[in-house]
Amino acid sequence: MAVIDQDYMDMIKYRWCSCGSKLPKHALYDGHGIFLTYACEKCEKKKLSGYRSDIMDRYECDEPIDSD
Ligand SMILES: [Zn+2]
Repeated sequence: MAVIDQDYMDMIKYRWCSCGSKLPKHALYDGHGIFLTYACEKCEKKKLSGYRSDIMDRYECDEPIDSD
């Protein structure tokens, strides 16, 4: 049986960010409008740093994407 703790229930109820900041989360999208993740203003930069630095830009170059 899964135990659902009160903090988690509050997070759902108030739509708080999962980082524990108790700030409202919002969806982040890349340059194509593709959903990435949820973040609040406190952890937004940190979460985006886990993605390619150019992900928020439109892909306008025709260079092959490095596979490594
Ligand atoms: Zn957050």
